[in-house]
Amino acid sequence: LLKISFHGAARTVTGSKHILHTPSGRKILLDCGLFQGMGKETGALNRKWGFQPSEIDLVILSHAHIDHIGLLPKLYKDGYGGGVLCTAATADLAKILLLDSARIQRSERKGGGGHRRETLYDEEHVERAVAAMRTADYGEVAKLSDELEVCFTDAGHILGSASVHITVTEEGGQQTRITFSGDVGRYHDPLLRAPDTFPQADYILMETTYGDKLHGLPTAVGDELLDYIQRTCVERGGKLVIPAFAVGRTQELVFILNKLSLEKRLPAVPVYVDSPLATDATETIKEHTDLLNDSAQRLMKIDDDVFDFEGLHYVTDTDDSKAIAERQHACVIISASGMAEGGRIRAHIAAALEDERNTILLVGHSEPYTLGGQLKAGADDVAIFGEDYEVNAEIGALGSMSAHGDYEDLLRWLDCQDAAKVKGVFLVHGEYGIQQAFAERLQRKGFASVHIPAQHEDVELGA
Ligand SMILES: [Zn+2]
Repeated sequence: LLKISFHGAARTVTGSKHILHTPSGRKILLDCGLFQGMGKETGALNRKWGFQPSEIDLVILSHAHIDHIGLLPKLYKDGYGGGVLCTAATADLAKILLLDSARIQRSERKGGGGHRRETLYDEEHVERAVAAMRTADYGEVAKLSDELEVCFTDAGHILGSASVHITVTEEGGQQTRITFSGDVGRYHDPLLRAPDTFPQADYILMETTYGDKLHGLPTAVGDELLDYIQRTCVERGGKLVIPAFAVGRTQELVFILNKLSLEKRLPAVPVYVDSPLATDATETIKEHTDLLNDSAQRLMKIDDDVFDFEGLHYVTDTDDSKAIAERQHACVIISASGMAEGGRIRAHIAAALEDERNTILLVGHSEPYTLGGQLKAGADDVAIFGEDYEVNAEIGALGSMSAHGDYEDLLRWLDCQDAAKVKGVFLVHGEYGIQQAFAERLQRKGFASVHIPAQHEDVELGA
């Protein structure tokens, strides 16, 4: 009996966890993500698996974002003892991200506040997870047993990101192909290759983050960013504060700013990347530049470091970070986390928010509950570190900067498939309303069976 059960990113975006149950009784966990930004429910969601970790046989990771890997150490803490399969870049990024996550939890616990929070896991559990990682390149077929083969293709979302293709061969020789999209990137990313095509699948699990949206052309991002720098820093003498995911988005911004600098279009204002994690992630990306797209490869031939330019400062020290937040001078600050629900960015936003010369520029998806989400929704005041702040700064958004494909990108990713041969599509990693809209689009494209699973739902394949 072939079955999939959905234990996260079901009618929501975060917490990706899907289990493929094979006819021989093996259980393959696709991603082991943390729920984020779900308000008061978040903690409870991250403590209730809905399955037994000790019963899982293998974990496969699509990419290193925390909403796809962030609970992996807890899986080991709670009894899992098996291996992890991912790409080499995902393994490298996962290591620094999970160690960072363990450190943040420990410092939050020490910080105390009103109530002491139990950590989800510690560094030792991260070390166990990292030690269990085995890697496969894009296109390489990993034969795990007579029953199971796995192959990754480039998903174009962040460095090392993959779509996962699993072939299950039953005893009689009958084969079923299951594809998990992971997060699908865009077709004109400044740094990454476009999402790759993949062999015909019988069942497809796919993300739907932007299943109802069209982004602008990514080629305009540099000009848009330049407009914000010009208006905020040059004309008003203010700070341009950008919350950005430490892995992926930050490097993309730095790459674009570097390009503007090479073209001599970047005004002479200091740019701070204030995140030890982003600094580490940038080093990791420099070790995997072979994965970057052709235009980035061409640029690397004339510029020996495409993640550095005059005026750029990588900040790791806490005191330096505080000094930058306190000073009121024209500059660009890029800091994590991307949804501004934690990390150093909150201090920068708190310091900048009440002064109308400044701009907070949102460049990615923010869950509604998070500080980024509240600002994006036009809040007049917000609470940061328990204090109220008036929103006087300009709030901007670069819609076209998403690492996720819009609905045209998602449909294009499916173009390599014969819709009539796909027996079922399962929509995950999206808000329910958006998923319903995308399901209609798929049905119009000829995908007859489209299902939107609920949390902890089981679906039998081929029934
Ligand atoms: Zn992602």
